[in-house]
Amino acid sequence: MAHLCEMQSQVAVKADTSKKHLPDKQDHKASLDSMLGGLEQELQDLGIATVPKGHCVSCWKPIAGKVIHALGQAWHPEHFVCAHCKREIGSSPFFERSGLAYCPKDYHHLFSPRCAYCGAPILDKVLTAMNQTWHPEHFFCAHCGEVFGEEGMTQGAYKKTSRAFP
Ligand SMILES: [Zn+2]
Ligand SMILES: [Zn+2]
Ligand SMILES: [Zn+2]
Repeated sequence: MAHLCEMQSQVAVKADTSKKHLPDKQDHKASLDSMLGGLEQELQDLGIATVPKGHCVSCWKPIAGKVIHALGQAWHPEHFVCAHCKREIGSSPFFERSGLAYCPKDYHHLFSPRCAYCGAPILDKVLTAMNQTWHPEHFFCAHCGEVFGEEGMTQGAYKKTSRAFP
C-alpha cells in the first residue's frame, strides 16, 4: 500500500514539471511579439483617427472623431439634433420627417395620431374606427365599458352600438 502511494505522488510530480517548463518559454516570446504588434496597431489606429471623415453638414467643419451618418449626411454627434427641441440625438434612435430628424418624444407629440378618447398620441397600435383613431384599450363599448380591441373589431362587435363611448 505504501508503495502505491509513493508511485502516485511521483507521477503527480512528473506531470507537474512537464507541464511547467516547455510552454513557459514560448509564452514569453509570444507575449513579447504580441506586445510589439499591439503597439504598432495602436499607432495605426491613432493615425487613422486623425484623418477627417468628411464635413459636418451643420457646422461645415471636418469631422475627426465620431461621425453620425443620418439623413444621407455626415454630422458631428453633438450637431445632430432634434429639429423641434434642438437636443442632441447623437447615436440615439430618431424619427425622420420631411428631411428633418426628431427625437422620439417630439415626433410622437407632433405627428402621431391622437386617441379620440384620451387625446394622447398613439405610439403603438392604432385602432381606426368611426373616422377617428383610438388607443385599442380606449375603444370600448359606450354601454358596458367592455374594450372591443382588435378582436372586437374583426368580429364587427362595435357595429352593434351607435357610439363607442359616452
Ligand atoms: Zn458639426
Ligand atoms: Zn426633440
Ligand atoms: Zn387613449
